[in-house]
Amino acid sequence: MQFFDREHLRSIFTKPTNYINTNRGKEYYDNLYKKMEKRLNELKAQQPVKEAEIKFQELLETWELSRRDFLKWVSATTAMLMLPPQFEPLVAQAAEVMNRVPIIWINIQDCAGNTEALLRSASPTVDELILEYLSVEYQEVIMAAAGDQAEENLHKAVKDFDGKYLLFVEGSIPVGMPEAFTIGRHPKTGVEHVKHLAEHAAAVIAVGACACFGGVPAAYPNPTGAVGVMDIVKGKPIVNIPACPANPANITGVVIHYILTGELPELDSLLRPKFAFGYRIHDNCERRAHFDAGEFVEEWGDEGAKNNFCLYKMGCKGPFTFNNCSIVRYNEGTNWPIGVGRGCIGCSEPDFWDKYATERPLADSDIQPPGLHGVEATVDEVGLGILTATAIGIGVHAVASAIAGKKDETKEEQ
Ligand code: SF4
Ligand code: SF4
Repeated sequence: MQFFDREHLRSIFTKPTNYINTNRGKEYYDNLYKKMEKRLNELKAQQPVKEAEIKFQELLETWELSRRDFLKWVSATTAMLMLPPQFEPLVAQAAEVMNRVPIIWINIQDCAGNTEALLRSASPTVDELILEYLSVEYQEVIMAAAGDQAEENLHKAVKDFDGKYLLFVEGSIPVGMPEAFTIGRHPKTGVEHVKHLAEHAAAVIAVGACACFGGVPAAYPNPTGAVGVMDIVKGKPIVNIPACPANPANITGVVIHYILTGELPELDSLLRPKFAFGYRIHDNCERRAHFDAGEFVEEWGDEGAKNNFCLYKMGCKGPFTFNNCSIVRYNEGTNWPIGVGRGCIGCSEPDFWDKYATERPLADSDIQPPGLHGVEATVDEVGLGILTATAIGIGVHAVASAIAGKKDETKEEQ
């Protein structure tokens, strides 16, 4: 198996960044504002899906989150969705009517890591509270019901909310070995289970690398023939929120967008929301200045590592990975992998485990990291003319770094 063939690398280097146009003009935003206002008024007129719900404000108070915390979240989420600040009141209202949209969340071939990412915190963020506030009608990991009662609950939810619920899928689907996943007294395979629930859903949200692209279960030799939701579900709106785990902020962002518009957000060619996956990790990495200056960690624990230099030579795949974790971060915004000194393993990209999750910088290929033979030659071979602006940036910086490195070596020799 050869992932790093020239065509594959060429396709990565030439893939355009999915920038969202954030300046669409007054008329566009005025119309969008009116559309969202109308949608929110319709939702407010509806009863919450479940009776006797705790009010959103009460939920915030229970967890000792202040109005100020909430407003900070509103600003950040509005910006993340690439909406101008005047949309902040609408985002705040959307959070408060999230209990009008029914959710069914199923787990197939997975570790439930995405669910855990949502539940993990002793002091939840507003994102986590908002997901708690959703009307989750069925969620295998957290619900009390089991066995026949759980099946009945699922059946009832599908019947009651036919065509209205959002179906969240976590985990890959074993199409090559259907018996690897079955569920129920009259067992359904993963394929049957997902297809049936997707057929009755308003839209399907694949959460995490496995549900989007097969993830770790699909790693070579992929014994169960694991695939993602989009490989088996056709004719339904699908959004992929990859990563391992998916960031709760991105899940909330997709749901808030759905609440505000009744539609899924703008997606890239891999069905990922552009607001979260429109930029490369490398575009917003805090170590980028070191990449630009040709300052790299050369081995674990060296002076470069102590000085937080760029991790490209240690196998960081940030230049090839589209995700917003460099901005949103993990664990309540505390930090993220590169922040703690570990390169990106490209977990939001298809086949990441085989392609990127190694400590080698694109080995077995002609494209090598700066300073290790022939970056200049490789960039020339790939052809600057066909590179996108970002890829040109990477190539040019790589060359510049290599040259800078050589100059330093020469100086030292002198
Ligand atoms: S290669 Fe990795 S560590 Fe270096 S700047 Fe890019 S994303 Fe950051
Ligand atoms: S830094 Fe890379 S590997 Fe880590 S969570 Fe983000 S996309 Fe995934």
